[in-house]
Amino acid sequence: MTRPLYFSDPSSLEHDPLEAMPGHPEQPERLRAIERVLAAEDWLGWERRPAPASSTAELELAHTPRHVAAIRELSEAGGGAIDSETWDGRNSYRAAAHAAGGAAALARALLAGEARTGFSVARPPGHHAEPELAMGFCLFNSIAVAAALAVAELGASRVLILDWDVHHGNGTEAIFRGRDDVLLVTIQQEGIWPGTGSARDVGTGPGEGFTVNLPVPAGSGRDVFLSLIDRVVAPLAGEFGPDLILISAGFDAHRDDPLAGLALTSEDFGQMAVEVRELGARLGVPVGAVLEGGYSPPALADSVAATMRGLGGEGEAVAAPETAVADEAADRVARYWPAAST
Ligand SMILES: [Zn+2]
Repeated sequence: MTRPLYFSDPSSLEHDPLEAMPGHPEQPERLRAIERVLAAEDWLGWERRPAPASSTAELELAHTPRHVAAIRELSEAGGGAIDSETWDGRNSYRAAAHAAGGAAALARALLAGEARTGFSVARPPGHHAEPELAMGFCLFNSIAVAAALAVAELGASRVLILDWDVHHGNGTEAIFRGRDDVLLVTIQQEGIWPGTGSARDVGTGPGEGFTVNLPVPAGSGRDVFLSLIDRVVAPLAGEFGPDLILISAGFDAHRDDPLAGLALTSEDFGQMAVEVRELGARLGVPVGAVLEGGYSPPALADSVAATMRGLGGEGEAVAAPETAVADEAADRVARYWPAAST
């Protein structure tokens, strides 16, 4: 029996916005907290693998050559701020290239049948990075690199990305909004930074209907997330027929997170992971998670461990509650995916 795969690289710890931005929440301690908890539990039995660096060509699957060069050149010049909160230090290009490469290696291993589930746990995060714009702590969009690689080179026809980070995955949306081979379903707290992610944004051209924004009100917790997975994500996945499911796994929807106002617990993330694991099993496709946000290091560490337990096979699916948020979302999505809303 294959073990779940955990990808990481020491360069993740060398990207440090605290060099220039005191109090920055996206700091190396996030990863140290995760690895302390996992090391104490022998990595939950997962197989650890190194996250290789993405090549320039691989990064250019999701970004313009100009963007990749700009991030590299700023690092090589000693580093600097891209905006008031996004740091590209002298080690940051390397860290971001390994973060993208970890996600890419995860997709590669899953599509080669080496495991059913896995997690790339690296930083900086990626889902705010647009084709030619670093923002929101993100330099390269790791999950977008992985999804684009899966379609371009790994034999996947379709990839489903579920983004459960509390912030809108604007970068991932920008990269795939015109495509029908990557379906992005993104759940975010409505009204918070970066301000995008309206339910009206559904993609463009051949990608119309393949961007599914699911804004949720402040205070939303377990019931809302589980009902959205049950009423929207699972039926969509069934109709779309992905060869791979990737999770943009941010943990800032945790009730202890300092940057947002949702109400999930670590155990709730574990249950969400169980539901997505079971969805993958029903469809016969692997499930990979890629770390995004999460800014309370203890809550982040516990939530990552709970997610790994769920992905790794612990726990059972539960009957999802009914919520008005999910009912309304299912009605909206039915416009593009009639067969999914039964
Ligand atoms: Zn976030």
